[in-house]
Amino acid sequence: MPEGDTVWNTARVLHRALAGARITGSDFRVPQLATTDLTDWTVRESASRGKHLLLRLDAPTEEHWTLHSHLRMDGAWRAYAPGERWSGRPAHLIRVVLRSPGAVAVGYHLHDLTLVPTAEEDQLVGHLGPDLLGSDWDPAEAVRRLADHPEQTIGEALLDQRNLAGVGNLYKCEVLFLRGVSPWTPVGGVPDLPGMVALAQRLLAANRGRWTQSSTGSLHRGQTSYVYGRRAQPCRRCGTAIRKEELGERVTYWCPVCQPERPGSSSSG
Ligand SMILES: [Zn+2]
Repeated sequence: MPEGDTVWNTARVLHRALAGARITGSDFRVPQLATTDLTDWTVRESASRGKHLLLRLDAPTEEHWTLHSHLRMDGAWRAYAPGERWSGRPAHLIRVVLRSPGAVAVGYHLHDLTLVPTAEEDQLVGHLGPDLLGSDWDPAEAVRRLADHPEQTIGEALLDQRNLAGVGNLYKCEVLFLRGVSPWTPVGGVPDLPGMVALAQRLLAANRGRWTQSSTGSLHRGQTSYVYGRRAQPCRRCGTAIRKEELGERVTYWCPVCQPERPGSSSSG
């Protein structure tokens, strides 16, 4: 599940493969960029902002441009050595290929692939709240943005990238379990919002630099989460069957005993 940590890792892979390199060939397989040719452009750097990827480029005219992409549920970038077989994903999922003398970067099933002047990046990422893995991470601002909508359920608020950028469904479910808070609790009823925000940041930061996401500390298959993906399996703390239900536009997983409803908070049942 690509969340902030996965996107951060991906940005680092692209940076190591391409930063400073001259592009020797590009192949865009999306209609909006079908005629774009980045040959002789230079890769300045690769960065992430929440769940958005920003590949910053210098055109031969020395103008600064940004190739933006979003992984959503299923996108990926892979870097290969020249001549190496592209083993990442089926070829029909390829959306872009960037060749350089030292590496080939292939983007699979990317979303929102756009090329914009770097000065206009804010049109794509300016709405985002503080980036949990950004060098400018601002927990107080994240708490302020969350608290601005006290009636919203905390389950939906943590996923709203305008509040804080980087949390996806996995970390949302896990953070709520670890804090003992029902996903249906209104933000205004969450006992320790700063503590929850701090935990979300620690979980994402702990998973930087590896591709297996774990909230339990275990990297063993089937043991990496407390509640996410574990419907009907026993809670690791109390043995109660983990539940799965729709909340807003996404499903949520939780333990009804470890994450009790509080008086005044509404439930979908
Ligand atoms: Zn439990």
